[in-house]
Amino acid sequence: MTQHVWGYLPEYEKERADIIDAVETVFSSGQLVLGESVRSFEREFAAYHGAAHCVGVDNGTNAIVLGLRALGIGPGDEVITVSNTAAPTVVAINAVGATPVFVDVDPATYLMEVDQVAAAITPRTRCLLPVHLYGQCVDMAPLEALAAKHDLVILEDCAQAHGARHHGRIAGSMGKAAAFSFYPTKVLGAFGDAGATVTSDAGIDANLRRLRFYGMEERYFVIETPSYNSRLDEVQAEILRRKLTRLDDYVGRRRAIAARYAEAFAGTDLVTPATAPGNEHVYYVYVVRHPRRNQIIEALKAHDIVLNISYPWPVHTQKGFAYLGYPEGSLPVTSRVADEIFSLPMYPSLTDGEQDRVIDKVRDVLAKL
Ligand SMILES: *Cc1c(COP(=O)(O)O)cnc(C)c1O
Repeated sequence: MTQHVWGYLPEYEKERADIIDAVETVFSSGQLVLGESVRSFEREFAAYHGAAHCVGVDNGTNAIVLGLRALGIGPGDEVITVSNTAAPTVVAINAVGATPVFVDVDPATYLMEVDQVAAAITPRTRCLLPVHLYGQCVDMAPLEALAAKHDLVILEDCAQAHGARHHGRIAGSMGKAAAFSFYPTKVLGAFGDAGATVTSDAGIDANLRRLRFYGMEERYFVIETPSYNSRLDEVQAEILRRKLTRLDDYVGRRRAIAARYAEAFAGTDLVTPATAPGNEHVYYVYVVRHPRRNQIIEALKAHDIVLNISYPWPVHTQKGFAYLGYPEGSLPVTSRVADEIFSLPMYPSLTDGEQDRVIDKVRDVLAKL
């Protein structure tokens, strides 16, 4: 039976010696918190993005929270983003006391509809927060023009876009700062929670370092606004260093899987992902679309094939965000897309045989609809 919910175990089997060696390296190093592995990972992850700085933190949500705080975003400020995203994007905006403002998404890529951003800007707008959702980048040039014109900062949510490129530029190098998650399923995943914020601005780097360390620059003295403990774990950092050397291989495998799906479903009425011009997609999730989505998912369940939806409930429709006051139907494309999208299994250790079985069953179901 094929296991269709992502599991890290097949990957761990292949990489076990290296992962165990990473753990042993840290445990025998004599320094378990903010040591050589965190410093090295930060250097290497910054270099991978051609950025000057990287600050390792405890998860992707806090990478956004600290990114916003380091940029000076707080109560009274508006942050423009999308409702079709992982809720943590918006949870983070809420956590700093700022107000999330949603624009709709593009019906082909399901990414931020950048043409709607200008109209969403108010005197309170301080930040644009594009989410490079599913593994490809938001169209950045229009956002950069608006940011320059209205004196706004751009914070990229790169939690799903490790290694993605946009007109040759790598995701995470285009904003004033960029937040990454290394949640285990992500394109670069830790063996637990981890995250990082990348920037090329020395002042923002210094802010981030204080913010993840209680508000201290040196031990035992809170120099600035009191913060909290949001450090990247030393063991996760060492594992991430090892896995960073294989990131391009993981992405290559994801692209090969995506190409096989695209070929298999060409000529069917299943809508496969569209890559926007200038984008090099990393396929964190392989999102397809069909008006009878729920029926397809039910039918596949009978074959023990479990398909995920990213995401079934747009953030503005979730009860916890009712306070934002977005009426039903206010983001029509977002809502329509959420009713029709679902994801096919996508992770580097998925074998061709497993993928073929998924393809066969989906094709069977489509033929009988
Ligand atoms: C995963 C994810 C996050 C949050 O990361 P965590 O490490 O789970 O806190 C934020 N934004 C997006 C788009 C994500 O996919």
